[in-house]
Amino acid sequence: MNLQKNRPFINGKWVNPTKGKKFNVDNPADPGEQTLVMDCGVEECKNAVDAAHNALPAWSSKSATERGEILKKWYELILENQDKLAAIMTEEQGKPLAEAKGEIVYGASFVKWFAEEAVRAYGETIPAPASASRFITIRQPVGVVAAITPWNFPSAMITRKAAPALAAGCTIVIKPSEETPMSALGLAALAEKAGMPPGVFNVITISDPTVFSEVIFSDDRVRKLSFTGSTQVGKRLMEAASQSIKKISLELGGNAPFIVFEDADLKRAVSGLMMAKFRNCGQACTAANRIYIHSDIYDDFMKLFKEKVKNLKVGPGTQSGVNLGPLINQKAVKKVRQLLKDAVDKGARVTLGGKEMEKDSLFFQPTILENCTEEMNVFKEEIFGPVAAIYRFDDYDKIMASANRTPYGLASYFYSADVARCWLAAEALESGMVGINSGFISDASAPFGGIKESGIGREGSRYGLDEYLEIKYMSFGGIK
Ligand code: NAD
Repeated sequence: MNLQKNRPFINGKWVNPTKGKKFNVDNPADPGEQTLVMDCGVEECKNAVDAAHNALPAWSSKSATERGEILKKWYELILENQDKLAAIMTEEQGKPLAEAKGEIVYGASFVKWFAEEAVRAYGETIPAPASASRFITIRQPVGVVAAITPWNFPSAMITRKAAPALAAGCTIVIKPSEETPMSALGLAALAEKAGMPPGVFNVITISDPTVFSEVIFSDDRVRKLSFTGSTQVGKRLMEAASQSIKKISLELGGNAPFIVFEDADLKRAVSGLMMAKFRNCGQACTAANRIYIHSDIYDDFMKLFKEKVKNLKVGPGTQSGVNLGPLINQKAVKKVRQLLKDAVDKGARVTLGGKEMEKDSLFFQPTILENCTEEMNVFKEEIFGPVAAIYRFDDYDKIMASANRTPYGLASYFYSADVARCWLAAEALESGMVGINSGFISDASAPFGGIKESGIGREGSRYGLDEYLEIKYMSFGGIK
């Protein structure tokens, strides 16, 4: 089955936008290699909302079991086609094939989870104060959902939204990132094959995201926005959503602390850090951004860590044995370069790597930056690149205060063998998720999401379904 699509999927059809415009999607491993994708305008965005609106009554009135069956079929097709989907992802996003495949399987796990969870959208009975009354609640789908997703996880960020939305009985219009629209189209082709009725699952390919957002925000029929992306854009969308009080879920940026206490198992901490820092070339919202190492174990830890980092192989994601692919574009490389310069100007030391593999290349050396301090921009901003910024510490209270000194609150990590400390530190860290002796925290069964400026709402787990359901309370009177 051919999953290489280059046009939007609206109302069950692969559509040619009326204006006939196209935009380029670069292969970051070889920016000369481009794919042309059809560029939607206002008309296609409106058509997609119409389609989702028209499909809503029939989809929401199917039984949860029936919706779950279609989702299960979609899940199986995604797994059957994981090699093809991974190849599409590596081509447009750059991550190594093995990692891309990992993302497809991880993304699919949300479809399975919510296919099963669909039948558990329970309501409740509430003891009423008067004997002649009965109070009950039911949960109903929110309605038409608009989803906007980023380029760093082009497949999983879609299934994390679409699966619970569809399971709940909502219909959806998805706008993937203009950098990575083809992974979304591959998923749409499989949704079609799985028997998703026309209009239930729509994908808009568009180079100007504001055209899409203007359409959805000016249409009252869109009842929910689910967004994953930067905090900056999330704030703007939240403001716009207030015009018609749309329900919102926001999965935004992070600035995760990764703390290694003096009693940590160093080998485990190093392998956890390799995962939390270098997965997806550091381009993850949950990436370890500020790495705090206790003075007592600093030298031992850094020795082990450097050995591992030195062994990382950088190259095109299609080459076997590659651990790190390219950064997404030149803007990302420039940002990493500027962060390094700012840190070095303020006293940090680059002790490994520190530059692009070649001039003007999107491949960046795995980098270790020591002597970091709170005055540096690496402390304040998401690095989004393969740079491990290291801070040395001695004092527990000071380091916990430092870890929380950020407006972000997505993920935190720490390593310690002390049970009491594990409880206290986990409770004190201001983030929606905490990895305790673990550098990888995402799973379909667990609630993923942030606090503070990292977002609103949760994806995955039983809470993930709530985001797409409204509670209706019914008061029955005159029983006696
Ligand atoms: P981005 O905010 O630039 O873009 C995200 C999406 O929003 C894209 O589809 C883009 O086209 C769209 N967009 C941009 N401006 C818009 C506008 N004015 N109106 C409507 N849509 C608009 O983010 P990005 O660079 O694609 O992704 C990286 C960011 O995403 C990082 O900050 C990262 O931390 C965050 N992220 C968060 C999570 C999470 O679960 N919390 C997961 C992955 C990525």
